[in-house]
Amino acid sequence: VPARRPWTGTRIITVSNQKGGVGKTTSAVNLAAAMAESGLRVLVIDMDPQGNASTALSIPHSSGTAGIYDVLIEGVPLADVVQPCPQVLGLSCAPATIDLAGAEIELVPLVARENRLRRALATYLEGQAQEVDLVVIDCPPSLGLLTVNALVAARELLIPIQCEYYALEGLSQLLKNVELIQQHLNSDLQVSTILLTMFDGRTRLASDVAEQVREHFGDRVLRTAIPRSVRISEAPSHGETVITYDPASSGALSYAEAAAEMRTTKESA
Ligand code: ADP
Ligand code: MG
Repeated sequence: VPARRPWTGTRIITVSNQKGGVGKTTSAVNLAAAMAESGLRVLVIDMDPQGNASTALSIPHSSGTAGIYDVLIEGVPLADVVQPCPQVLGLSCAPATIDLAGAEIELVPLVARENRLRRALATYLEGQAQEVDLVVIDCPPSLGLLTVNALVAARELLIPIQCEYYALEGLSQLLKNVELIQQHLNSDLQVSTILLTMFDGRTRLASDVAEQVREHFGDRVLRTAIPRSVRISEAPSHGETVITYDPASSGALSYAEAAAEMRTTKESA
């Protein structure tokens, strides 16, 4: 068990990209697990009605389970829905149930509809006896109100990018939304981190796209790219992150390395 690191403020990172299947959830849960294993207290908030992050962390999330839906729509305290992750000490998760699918519409007429997660999280963080070091918010593949809530609640945005032909298409839409949110709802939001996922360095295309991404985003792109790895894709079906499922695998090592890089950016910031 690693020693508890000293608290240096709560870092709140939203993982978003409106494309599906680019590695948002995989990156959210594995970075969170790697950070927790390094001695940080980490909360994952699952904002995707699919509940894939909840599944990967072995958190029950069948319909009717108290989850993020109840927090956003019913005003239930976040503390009432957070559950400890059984595999990783220091890691907990606010699960998403399929009920959250309705929230996208149900949020529309509500007061402060873009701020509901931010408020719930602020109350939660104040009420914790032990400080939380990191909050990681996993988004659905859309730019609707669930994602807006996640972007308003965070100070950092991590964008996972899969190095394929259409990777950069659609990114301008996300960045435009980020600008609007910076102007109107959350001036603290920064695109802090880009993570290349499912990277296959043997293909020319992947290297070309990676180069383009690095040209555009500079040192915000983590040096560590996550390789395509069967172990990474197997882990969720065992209710685990690859960090515990196969700690020596290339996938686990690369997520641990990416997490270490992210801790350095914070320390030097
Ligand atoms: P998103 O949350 O953006 O929709 P996921 O994280 O769910 O994307 O990933 C999409 C699919 O790709 C999942 O089946 C996941 O297991 C798989 N996957 C993600 N990253 C990797 C990787 N590095 N190697 C192999 N499979 C991966
Ligand atoms: Mg996902």
